[in-house]
Amino acid sequence: MKIRFLGTGTSQGIPVIGSNHPVSKSTDPRDKRLRVSVWMYWQGHSYVIDCGPDFRQQMLTSGCERLDGILFTHEHADHTAGLDDIRPFNFMQGDMPIFAHERVLRNLEKRFDYIFEKVDRYPGAPSVKVNEIRNNEPFAIGDKKAIPIEVWHAKLQVFGFRVDDFAYLTDVKIIFEEEVEKLKGLKVLVVNALREEPHESHFNLQEAIDFINLVRPERAYLTHISHMMGFHAEVERKLPPNVFLAYDNLEITI
Ligand SMILES: [Zn+2]
Repeated sequence: MKIRFLGTGTSQGIPVIGSNHPVSKSTDPRDKRLRVSVWMYWQGHSYVIDCGPDFRQQMLTSGCERLDGILFTHEHADHTAGLDDIRPFNFMQGDMPIFAHERVLRNLEKRFDYIFEKVDRYPGAPSVKVNEIRNNEPFAIGDKKAIPIEVWHAKLQVFGFRVDDFAYLTDVKIIFEEEVEKLKGLKVLVVNALREEPHESHFNLQEAIDFINLVRPERAYLTHISHMMGFHAEVERKLPPNVFLAYDNLEITI
């Protein structure tokens, strides 16, 4: 299975609009971060986790020609705002399967009422096939199994996912022990680390490293990164040997 990081930035993306922060002005391509998403693909199967406002650009840049489904972590705009741009896939493939917690599905119905309209649909409106995710109920994505991992973004429930020996967790601040149990024996863990300073709803760098030391994957990649984290090249030098900052368009094989 290949994992491509489509975006690794926090909700505003990097550069931040109007920002004169040195990281926003950096010319290192690894300091340019679209909103978080990953593309998981293997023989004949192709899924993304989240569909934020940069989805269209991410699909064009990655060259993704077919998508079998979208797994949603939670309803915040940086993870959902691109849903209208599934239309080219609809025209080629039909309804797009989406997978989300029941609360997230209700929220998407509000944000994108026209997508879920049953009567008098606008011709050419995006169309989805809804699949509800429940914790402790693994579900099929192609010929693989996705295991939901429940985490907390301060008070908001969020799903991460484990597929084979890969796990992707974003927007985590709290995770309970029974969920950590589901992360044993990982080759690759992806987890959010916003910046060095603490934040009320995201792991900061130290919390992410402490969590990685608890889970003990072979390798870990940090994502959902703010410009306040600093320059990619400088931050990566400070990390433990099996921990890396992810960057946009990085591709790894599991
Ligand atoms: Zn987010």
